Amino acid sequence: MSENLENLETNIKEKYDSALKSQDLYFFETTTESKDVNGVEFQLTHAPSLLLKPKPEGLGPPEPTDPFENPNPALLVAEYGEYNLLLNKFCVVPHHFLIVTKEFRKQSEPLLPSDLRATWEVLNQVSQPAMAFYNCGDVSGSSQPHKHIQVVPLAKSTHSPPINALYDRISGRKAGEIYTIESLPYIHVLVPLDLNFISTSTDPEELEGYLGQMFFGLLDSMIQQLRVNGSRMTMSYNFILTKQYMMLVPRQKEHWEVPEKGVRLSVNSMAFAGYLLTKKPEELETMKESNILDILSEVGVPKNMESSVHIVDHHSELAIE
Ligand code: AMP
Repeated sequence: MSENLENLETNIKEKYDSALKSQDLYFFETTTESKDVNGVEFQLTHAPSLLLKPKPEGLGPPEPTDPFENPNPALLVAEYGEYNLLLNKFCVVPHHFLIVTKEFRKQSEPLLPSDLRATWEVLNQVSQPAMAFYNCGDVSGSSQPHKHIQVVPLAKSTHSPPINALYDRISGRKAGEIYTIESLPYIHVLVPLDLNFISTSTDPEELEGYLGQMFFGLLDSMIQQLRVNGSRMTMSYNFILTKQYMMLVPRQKEHWEVPEKGVRLSVNSMAFAGYLLTKKPEELETMKESNILDILSEVGVPKNMESSVHIVDHHSELAIE
């Protein structure tokens, strides 16, 4: 096990192979189809085998209440400062891993500049396309209360999450300016990162300060959007970090529900990046019949069109694309 990020990718692959073999980790087969909405190729991934997820009683001692407190050494890829890098025990994407605080911190707390720097550094050690995400708060789709950021590899063919199709269309994007995309019917904010500054910065504290400033600027802007929208304040949100931008989506509901179809599905950050996961056939069928943007609006915070006015944010004018 490594104490830095050297050979991270090789270590992840080796650890993954051995954990899979020893059944310390489970990979679930999926099928994926895409659904185009306004030029975004949403990926509908169906993983029926997740319903057969091994039950702890069949596997010796029950799962501890906090599985990240004393992580299974078979899943521990590296220690990095205040963090453990841990393979996801139940994955539908090989090499999906978590950046977990060594000391217990709450998943309902915002990311700190140090969390963001560690995540950025880890993300940049992975040569395969990947994105990081954080499901913050009670109704954000998280299942573990111990602070963990996740890093998920993306298909080599697509390179970036499906939602990038909209990001790429923002004309004249400027690093540090906060944007909202008009065609998305739920509240969200995103900020392009200054990649030139980041790549030339040699001072970790400077990088930490920069990422913290971008994140808290985004959080302020999200709160302001909720206020102007006349929405109830929520501190549950989904955070997405790609190698180009950060995005925040506030949440008002954990589950997408269609009771008459027997659908009640937890939704997390991955969905707002364009990846939706179903387990039951009725979930997949209902999703295929539904407007994906309606699903996301239901669990996010729908934009109130009447109050959708130009908002001025602390750092920059909020640009509506
Ligand atoms: P979330 O559901 O967003 O809170 O993410 C928690 C992640 O931790 C899920 O992807 C789980 O599959 C994963 N997980 C659950 N138990 C363990 C464990 N004992 N070791 C490693 N990963 C785990």
